[in-house]
Amino acid sequence: MTETATTEFEFQAEIAQLLHLLSHSLYQNKEIAIRELVSNASDAIDRFRHLALTDSDQNTDDLGIFLEPDSEKKVLTIRDNGVGMTHDELVKNLGTIAHSGSKEFLTKLAESDKKDEVSLIGQFGVGFYSAFMLADKVEVVTRSYQEDSGWKWTSDGSGKFTIEAEDGLERGTQIRLHLKDDMGEFSQKFRLKHILTEYSTFVPYPIKLDGEHVNEQKPIWVEPKSQVTDEQYKGFYHFLSKRSHEDPLWHLHLTADSPFQFHAVLFCPPTNMELMGFGKAEHGLSLCAKRILVQNNSRELLPEYLRFLHGLVDSADLPLNVSRQALQDNSVFRKIRNVLTKRVLSHLDKMGTSSADEYHKFYEQFGPVLREGVASDFENRDTLGKLLRFKSSHGDDRTAQVSLTDYVGRLSADQTQIYYHTGPDLKSLERSPNMEAFTSRGIEVLYLTDPVDEFVLNHLGQFEEKDLVSIDSAEVKLPDAAKKEDDEDESSEEKKDKSASPAGFERVVELVKEALGDQVEDVRKSDRLTTSACCLVSPEGAPSAQLQKVLAQASDEFPGFKRVFELNPTHPLVARLCELSGNGDHEAFIKSCGSQLFTNAMLMEGLVPDVHSTTDRITGFMEELAGTRSPIAGA
Ligand code: ADP
Repeated sequence: MTETATTEFEFQAEIAQLLHLLSHSLYQNKEIAIRELVSNASDAIDRFRHLALTDSDQNTDDLGIFLEPDSEKKVLTIRDNGVGMTHDELVKNLGTIAHSGSKEFLTKLAESDKKDEVSLIGQFGVGFYSAFMLADKVEVVTRSYQEDSGWKWTSDGSGKFTIEAEDGLERGTQIRLHLKDDMGEFSQKFRLKHILTEYSTFVPYPIKLDGEHVNEQKPIWVEPKSQVTDEQYKGFYHFLSKRSHEDPLWHLHLTADSPFQFHAVLFCPPTNMELMGFGKAEHGLSLCAKRILVQNNSRELLPEYLRFLHGLVDSADLPLNVSRQALQDNSVFRKIRNVLTKRVLSHLDKMGTSSADEYHKFYEQFGPVLREGVASDFENRDTLGKLLRFKSSHGDDRTAQVSLTDYVGRLSADQTQIYYHTGPDLKSLERSPNMEAFTSRGIEVLYLTDPVDEFVLNHLGQFEEKDLVSIDSAEVKLPDAAKKEDDEDESSEEKKDKSASPAGFERVVELVKEALGDQVEDVRKSDRLTTSACCLVSPEGAPSAQLQKVLAQASDEFPGFKRVFELNPTHPLVARLCELSGNGDHEAFIKSCGSQLFTNAMLMEGLVPDVHSTTDRITGFMEELAGTRSPIAGA
């Protein structure tokens, strides 16, 4: 396309809104605009270098980024010799299509209070448009590697921009910032040098400020660990994550020489943005071959469940000139991924045992992402199992995090299962009748307040050859020794005396079965209760009540599993019903009590029973006690 005169275009509405916001922004940290423009320049050079790999006519000498400040005119020019832009690319890229960072920024802004604008700018980095925080007029003068002449794009940040032809340009792009009156500092060399040192030290191409090379730092990932300072690691994290306001939680510097060679530095951020309502982390790692960037958001280098890590991997054994797909199929690439995954997991495992507090902090943030791995990474499932943490009935500290290894370490010799209990909160878990058998026998139970944890444990199935079993499951096999101790316990002897006669109890079970019909899978005697009259348990193979609730919410078609209703023959009420069962006159009363006990058990689990029959029944009991109605027993 050839344009002779100046053509005027309107910014897309979203972009116009963004520009208005940025040019009036109170955001203090305006220097990030320099980082964004230098980073765009570096990307443009990356793209050019890639093209040059398949097109030997292109000259890749002297690739670099050049900053030319003019403090008298208050103009700063940032020039690169990357791909440049054609006329159409200029229109699209800088005016009519909102790009990644700015789009996310706008979405978040729409959701948040306007006052958050300030912090959001820093978190996203709004790309090219941040230029308008510094300048009241911006010119982009560019020539694409595909064309012989170029273009000048101009805008003052209001609703419009213009494009006109410009001859005599070298390949690449110059961004000319006509600085606002109070932004003169951005045309001072010392100020720019400070900014570039802070944000752009690790840009892989030379950055020259008025001819002075300002990023001569050697790549830290190829240095021996002992030579790299904490400050350098932090600086590198700031560069990779673009989050200069925070330091990483931990880092891992890895080097391998055989069977293939690679260097890597991985960083864990201090907070999990996903927990704060931001989208899934999709930044990936930077992948270099012989120190040259091949991909800057390679998401395939680590499994999904480690997506929160930032980092860089450099291998001399990777081919430079291949597509993303071919790279993933490359066997060195796959092996690097395996090694990285294993090294990260073993680092976490070590941290979990040697620095529990640090691991606690990590797990609070990233546990919810990490545990996804149990379902997806079969090969590392055992290690992932060791990394999980739960609340537990052990000890008095309900904030303590317990690992499966801790649990197994405390097991008595004859306990063959690991027990967990799922519920909405710790209080209801602790008070649940299903806990009685475990509390009285001193058996530890893991408390799962997040239903996802139950999915995770279902996937894990076993840990150190012990089955993971929900305490409300029919699969519970209480250890013999613990049971014996309990049987010898004096108070339980007393209870036995009060216990129902076997024949009476059988009759009660029959009557309750009749009363409940197909509301339950079965009615039977409970071995697990000590003080409560009854409880609900899940039949073998069925998910726990909590998980069923979640599944039912997720799909109308979830069939639901019927529960087993267990009665405690040592409970005084049940024992009394057993006595009454000898007399046929009491059958209706026993059935009513059975129905009400079932209703109570449902309520204890947070399930909603049929409201009408429940209130009718309770009113009936009250009327009977008040003498306004003849006893149910005789009815
Ligand atoms: P992002 O960098 O997140 O894609 P920007 O708003 O910073 O978003 O830039 C929009 C697009 O403009 C870039 O994707 C790129 O295609 C183009 N662009 C920006 N700066 C340059 C440059 N210096 N050289 C070539 N293209 C550029």
